[in-house]
Amino acid sequence: LFVVFEGGEGAGKSTQLAQLAERLRAEGRDVVVTREPGATGVGTRIRSLVLDNNTDDEAPSPRAEALLYAADRAHHVATVVRPALSRGAVVISDRYVDSSLAYQGAGRTLPVDELSWLSSWATGGLKPDLVVLLDIDPRAGLSRVAERSRAADRLEAESLAFHERVRYAFLDLAAADPKRYLVLDAGHPVEQIAERVADRVTELLAP
Ligand code: C5P
Repeated sequence: LFVVFEGGEGAGKSTQLAQLAERLRAEGRDVVVTREPGATGVGTRIRSLVLDNNTDDEAPSPRAEALLYAADRAHHVATVVRPALSRGAVVISDRYVDSSLAYQGAGRTLPVDELSWLSSWATGGLKPDLVVLLDIDPRAGLSRVAERSRAADRLEAESLAFHERVRYAFLDLAAADPKRYLVLDAGHPVEQIAERVADRVTELLAP
């Protein structure tokens, strides 16, 4: 089973991801927790290229950035996700294709159909069984992460309008394929969100 957590900055993906992994491990399941960008050695270098304090001169251009995320994803899927799924593990990823459609597509205004094709090429068409979208108003999310320095640097570079486009892109993707998505209000209590996620995953794991 392949589960992906998506959402804007400060939505609480990492907390929820950890809670789900803990529950599943307590049931004795083989669980692989992973993320994009940066789950592998190659990915860590790509993550640093796209996210480490780039000055305007050094920051990759939008298309270069999209290709770097796609390269990270191709390598991630080939070396981490597919092998784990093949041996029957539950794979839980912090971000996947939708982040590219939302950030590089809606955020940086690259053509979403082309990004979608690029992701599909990079992954060999691997789709998640479930996408948990933790939806948050960017104002609330941004203030949650204001303390975390790298995020804060990036947030200064990207406007509130950018993060609003990202938010609505995630919601539109969910609306277009409701069976594959669980959309939750990230403002709700952590435990309550964790229960909803666990319920859905349990349903999917039932024989
Ligand atoms: O989720 P995490 O904090 O690791 O994401 C790091 C940053 O990478 C996010 O703030 C997001 O802005 C950016 N990102 C992106 N496009 C992606 C994936 C992540 O712009 N496809």
